Amino acid sequence: MTIKNNFDKWMFVLLVTAASVAGSLLLVGLFTEHGLEPEFIVPAILVPMIVAPIATLWMAQMMLRIHALNQQLRFLVRHDQMTGLLNRGAFFEGIGGKSGAVMMLDIDRFKVINDTYGHHAGDLIIRQVATILKEKSEPEGSAARFGGEEFVTFYPNECLAHAELRAEAIRSAVESQSVLVSGKSLSCTLSIGVDVFDGSRPLDEVLRSADAALYRAKTSGRNRIESHDEHPKVSRAM
Ligand code: GH3
Ligand code: MG
Ligand code: MG
Repeated sequence: MTIKNNFDKWMFVLLVTAASVAGSLLLVGLFTEHGLEPEFIVPAILVPMIVAPIATLWMAQMMLRIHALNQQLRFLVRHDQMTGLLNRGAFFEGIGGKSGAVMMLDIDRFKVINDTYGHHAGDLIIRQVATILKEKSEPEGSAARFGGEEFVTFYPNECLAHAELRAEAIRSAVESQSVLVSGKSLSCTLSIGVDVFDGSRPLDEVLRSADAALYRAKTSGRNRIESHDEHPKVSRAM
């Protein structure tokens, strides 16, 4: 029996106590000379009724705690601690063999933010971008922190045209957000590379092509979206 919540806990206590009382009555009935005599019935019921709940409640509480720790561990193994987004492993596990659109996203000139306002400000910006990605991706898609100020998102069954519109929504949301650091309002921009995984090329290759598109977005001015080479550019900010 897995104890996942307080209801399970009390059900466990109740079931073990009831089983203990039944077992105690059975044993007393079997091992006393003339069967279950009236003077033995009360202690045969009372003793397990007092002992069993105390012992099982302690045990149930331990099982509940173990379940909570397991859940916590599972979350930590699958998520990036700073942003709460998925990590690489969980992201790829989530894609499985599904087809859909992939985006590689990178904060522009992030080193300048760190160097000018400090790492704490940089961390706040990363968290803010992560929140926007989560809002714009879930529940149908998924977003992960790939490392540093780089992110990746996946939208199952999404075609390139839709992914480009979504990328534009993300780009403009990030551009218009700001974070207050020591009374100063800081903002940042994102460059995004988009490609589609349809099973015709391995996922690795699609990610590399989305990364190459991101690189083109960087070299052609940043704060923009580029798609896989075969497709035309859709968004040009500024
Ligand atoms: P580009 O527009 O070409 O992407 O320039 P960039 O400055 O964003 O890129 P670059 O790779 O030169 O710098 C990324 C910086 O991100 C360097 C690294 O110190 C910083 N960084 C990586 N992880 C973290 C983090 O968790 N917190 C903070 N504050 N900074 C981080
Ligand atoms: Mg960057
Ligand atoms: Mg980078």
